[in-house]
Amino acid sequence: MEIFLGIMVFLMGLVAGSFVNMLVYRTAVKYRLKKGERKTRPYNKNRSFCDFCGRQLKWYENVPVISWLWQRGRSRCCQKPLPYSYPLIELGTALIFWINFRFFLFPSWFLLNNSQLLGFLITLFLEMVAITMLVFEADFDRRHMILPDNGIITLVVVGILMILVGRAQDSPVLSLFSALGAFGFLLLLHLITKGKGMGMGDVKYALFMGLWLGFPKIIVAFYVAFVVGALFGIGSMLRGKMSRKSVMPFGPFLILGTIVAWWWGNLVIELL
Ligand SMILES: [Zn+2]
Repeated sequence: MEIFLGIMVFLMGLVAGSFVNMLVYRTAVKYRLKKGERKTRPYNKNRSFCDFCGRQLKWYENVPVISWLWQRGRSRCCQKPLPYSYPLIELGTALIFWINFRFFLFPSWFLLNNSQLLGFLITLFLEMVAITMLVFEADFDRRHMILPDNGIITLVVVGILMILVGRAQDSPVLSLFSALGAFGFLLLLHLITKGKGMGMGDVKYALFMGLWLGFPKIIVAFYVAFVVGALFGIGSMLRGKMSRKSVMPFGPFLILGTIVAWWWGNLVIELL
């Protein structure tokens, strides 16, 4: 049962990762249109298409990871290289789905009986939606320095639903206060740095962090985000990839902090 479910969850993660790649592409086109820039890349509302010429993809060109490997990382029609991040995002999403299921969700439902099954499936579903949107926001911010609103709104709704079904990490009151506190904290940093260190996307995303994690896990999340973010920044400067003035997207670090605190927050608090 557990192994079968684990494989199912992993495969769903591959599909979710493929959905993320599509959503990143499409959202990027939409943001460019919003800024009044002409649409330069192909776009088809309903079907999957080649990133370069817009030709509709056959089903076998659209299989997560496998198609990319089979085509040696190139589009079949144009022979242009497809980004490495496509299969990596698919594998990464699948791995996060599986780790969350295998080590955190499943063990907490010891002796699953029929009356608990519905609650288990609802939790699994909400967590899979949340992970998908987290990977989407992280990848989009990494590429375009924006945390899109559509993903943040979805995350906040999922966070509220988790509280309503009683499966959140913390009590409703503490979750709400954590959300407002996290929002206020990053808003303050945004205002102090005049938007250079912290974008409004980060500020809005903090609402979800508080809802999802509660207190004191939210502190762990910020701690991880700032420490890893700083180390990464220093590392990039030392390798000469970045100057003091270049801006670095902070969203991926906030998202990393969220996942670490979600999974191991209690452990970190005990160790401190
Ligand atoms: Zn093509």
